[in-house]
Amino acid sequence: MADKTPTKARIRSYNVGFGDCFLLTFSYPGDEQHHVLIDFGTTKKADDGPEGGMLEIAGKIREHTAGKLDIVVATHRHTDHISGFRGKTGEIIAALEPELVIQPWTEDPKLEADARAPAAVAAGPAGARALVSRLADMHTVAVAALAEAPKLELSPSVRRAVREQLAFLGDTNLSNADAVKNLMTMGKRPAVYANFGTQLPIADLLPGVGVQVLGPPTVEQSAAIKRQRDEDPDEFWHLAAASADTTIQAGEPPILFPQHAISTDEIPQQARWVIPEIERMRSEEMLAIVRILDSALNNTSLILLFEVGDTRLLFPGDAQIENWSYALKTAPGHEKIQQRLASASFYKVGHHGSLNATPKTLWEKFEHRSNEKSAPGRLRTMVSTAADKHGHKEDNTEVPRRTLIEALSKESELHNTQDIISPTEFWDDVEFDF
Ligand SMILES: [Zn+2]
Repeated sequence: MADKTPTKARIRSYNVGFGDCFLLTFSYPGDEQHHVLIDFGTTKKADDGPEGGMLEIAGKIREHTAGKLDIVVATHRHTDHISGFRGKTGEIIAALEPELVIQPWTEDPKLEADARAPAAVAAGPAGARALVSRLADMHTVAVAALAEAPKLELSPSVRRAVREQLAFLGDTNLSNADAVKNLMTMGKRPAVYANFGTQLPIADLLPGVGVQVLGPPTVEQSAAIKRQRDEDPDEFWHLAAASADTTIQAGEPPILFPQHAISTDEIPQQARWVIPEIERMRSEEMLAIVRILDSALNNTSLILLFEVGDTRLLFPGDAQIENWSYALKTAPGHEKIQQRLASASFYKVGHHGSLNATPKTLWEKFEHRSNEKSAPGRLRTMVSTAADKHGHKEDNTEVPRRTLIEALSKESELHNTQDIISPTEFWDDVEFDF
């Protein structure tokens, strides 16, 4: 067993619309295969659909794994990464009897059990619990943002882009309790909640494959995450703490900024000109907060580097710059990490091609980039994305960001799920021989 090494790896990317779903298959001599599913989620794709709904994708995963998964990785809790683990599609994946489920440390239910205890807010190791508690509060904010979005539609002063982003980000940040529960229970072995440096117990599941966890750092490891917690009291975190005081009627969404909720009836006639301006400001403030929430969850993404010999395959989930910077700049041995990353043969483009998830310093270090299409060993990249869902062109926040896609397609062999058009072959794949 010990010296068994794979001869081949295949990476499939299924077209889930806006979301991620990757299957890594390692092949060994004698037709043996081991499979790792990294994320299975979408923001909008239905279970059934003409171009392959989520149920059909789950069916294909079953077929491509011959009914058995070794490892499931859920990089982070966003809907577009885990929605497929709930409901009927979740049952199909659980029936593939994964041996091990790997999630970021922030999902550890043991942390969550204490999360709301007042002591959790204290500094020290309890800081971790405080962060987790606040991540849990995001659900409340997400529900509120979702509820506000349609109301804003009535206001001509609120920019359409702001309204749409509130609805999208509210949706993707919902807590997905069913998927989370399924992920907690589907693995045959005890789940692993990993952080930077965790040694994954996978030697027998992926013989001859090294997997390094490069993120997320823990609160203790990363001052950046701590800072996010400590220095943003007036933004999301403060709101999250206050959300406990928000009156929530049964079945009613909570109200963001209840202290600012203005009944227009209370404003005297001569001052009513101010109402559209208040609504515009309110909507933009809300979006700013929901964006902070969204980034914070992205920064809990697992960053995994798979290594077979000198072939390196990089899967960073939706990690943004703050998550990356620990591994790249401050972690012990970060120079070595940078060298290994530089030699990556494959890069799963971070956060569906948003600009702040592919640090320029990282991209520029990839040695296998080449403008020559036929260059041997040219870097291969995969982006799973859908345009016009996240961000907006008018403020250069559109996902995928056009400048990044240009660089990817010029300097690497880019595989983009947006280019998948076949209704029956709704995935793309790349292969590596070792
Ligand atoms: Zn995502």
